[in-house]
Amino acid sequence: MSSCLFCRIAEGEIPADVVLRNNDVVAFRDVNPQAPVHVLVIPIEHHANVTELSAKAPHLASKLIDAAAAVARSEGLDDQYRLVFNTGADVGQSVFHVHAHVLGGRDFAWPPG
Ligand code: 5GP
Ligand code: ZN
Repeated sequence: MSSCLFCRIAEGEIPADVVLRNNDVVAFRDVNPQAPVHVLVIPIEHHANVTELSAKAPHLASKLIDAAAAVARSEGLDDQYRLVFNTGADVGQSVFHVHAHVLGGRDFAWPPG
């Protein structure tokens, strides 16, 4: 059994509110949402962060972004959403299986805190 939380969610060992799944990616609602829509999109294959994903599996990076856009559409965000890849503990990454945060449904400040 994997020790990685998001590998376990991808395998269905840990329940999640899944909104999209295909052969490459799974998208599920964040357990601690920071906006009315807050969905995490992950590749099923384990990569620690977006740098590693882009270097080792660029085709999956593209599929991840496609899936994020599809989630934004299906959540009714009308192409108004923020896509975030926290990369490294210093900037807030807490789960080291790459995930795109799809955030929307409210106004956002810039720059982010
Ligand atoms: P990070 O801080 O690594 O960018 O994002 C990790 C995200 O995963 C956080 O927003 C956190 O709320 C979410 N998260 C952590 N554990 C779980 C879980 O067991 N289930 C779900 N659905 N989200 C989780
Ligand atoms: Zn993993």
